Amino acid sequence: MTVDRSTIWPYDERGEPRDFFYSRYAHPTGAAAERELGALEDGDALLYASGMGAATTVVLALVEPGETIALAEGAYYGTAVLFRTLERWGVRVVEYDQTGPPPEGADVIWVEAPANPVLTLPDWDAVRSRARLLVCDATVATPVYLRALDEGAHVVLHSGTKYLSGQHDALVGATVTRDEELTARLRTMRGQAGIPASPDAAHALHNGLKTLETRMRRHTETAAELARRLGGHPAVERVRYPGFSGLVSFDVSGDPRAVETATRLIVNATSLGSVTSTMESRHRWEGDRIPTGLLRLSVGLEDADALWADLEQALEHAG
Ligand code: PLP
Repeated sequence: MTVDRSTIWPYDERGEPRDFFYSRYAHPTGAAAERELGALEDGDALLYASGMGAATTVVLALVEPGETIALAEGAYYGTAVLFRTLERWGVRVVEYDQTGPPPEGADVIWVEAPANPVLTLPDWDAVRSRARLLVCDATVATPVYLRALDEGAHVVLHSGTKYLSGQHDALVGATVTRDEELTARLRTMRGQAGIPASPDAAHALHNGLKTLETRMRRHTETAAELARRLGGHPAVERVRYPGFSGLVSFDVSGDPRAVETATRLIVNATSLGSVTSTMESRHRWEGDRIPTGLLRLSVGLEDADALWADLEQALEHAG
C-alpha cells in the first residue's frame, strides 16, 4: 500500500464529507494500519502521534477531574511524569505494586505488562472488574504474547515506536478497545486535540506488523539465552526477565555507565523494541525510583553469541 499524505479529500456529490475529508480526523494509511492492529487484538485500534499521545488522549477522553488513577510502579517513567503534570487538571495519581491488589478507591487502574524497566506483570485477578476503567500498556508484550482485552482490560495501549514498527524509524502510538463508546470518545478527542499518527508513521507500523510475530519469537529466544548467561556472570547481581519479549533488565555491582559506554555492537541509546539492540542505565532518567546499577537491554535480532561476546567484554568495565 502506498502512503497517502493528503490532508484533504473531496466531499461527495451531495457536498457531504466521506470517510476521509481532513487528515486530522482520519486518513486511509492510518485506517489500513488500524484494521491490521485491531485484528491482532480483536478490537478497534486507533493510532496516535506517539505512545504518550495515546496516553494523553486516554486521560483527556476517559478520566474525569477528581478521579484517582492507580498506576503500576516501575512502569514507563514518562507515564508517571505525564500523570503528575495532569494533576493540575484534577487527576490524582497513586503508584502501587502491580503484582498485588490495587489500592481501594481507584477509579482507573493503569497496569503495564510487563512494566518497563522492572519487568513485573500485573495480577489480573486482583484488577479485573476492580475499577471503572482498566488500562493496560502492553508495549513490551505486544499482541503476540498478550491480548490484554481478553484479560479484562477496557483499553490496551501501545507505544508502536517500539516492537510494532520495530526499526527505530517511526514515532507512533495506539489504543485498542472492544467498546464502541470508548472508541468513539477516543477518536473524537484524538481529532480535537490533533494527536493522530502521521501517514508515514502509520505506514511504518503497518509494515512492522507483517514481521511482528517472527521478530518477537526471535527476540524472545535470544533474550532468554542472554538472561540465562547474565544470571551466571559474577559482575551481575540480579537479572529481571519475564520469559517472553526482548527486554532484559540487570543490575551490575559496579558502575553501569562504564558498562553501557563500553559496548560495541549494542548501541548505547534509549528506547527499545528494534531489530538493533540498545542498552542504557535507567538511573539517569528515573533517579532513585529504580536501582542505581540497573541496565536495560533491548535485545535485537543480532546473533546471540555476538551479543553475549559484546556484553562480556563490556562487563569487564563494571569495576
Ligand atoms: N509505554 C511504554 C511501555 C514505553 O516504553 C514508552 C516509551 O518508551 C511509552 C509508553 C511512550 O511511547 P512513545 O515514546 O512512543 O511516546
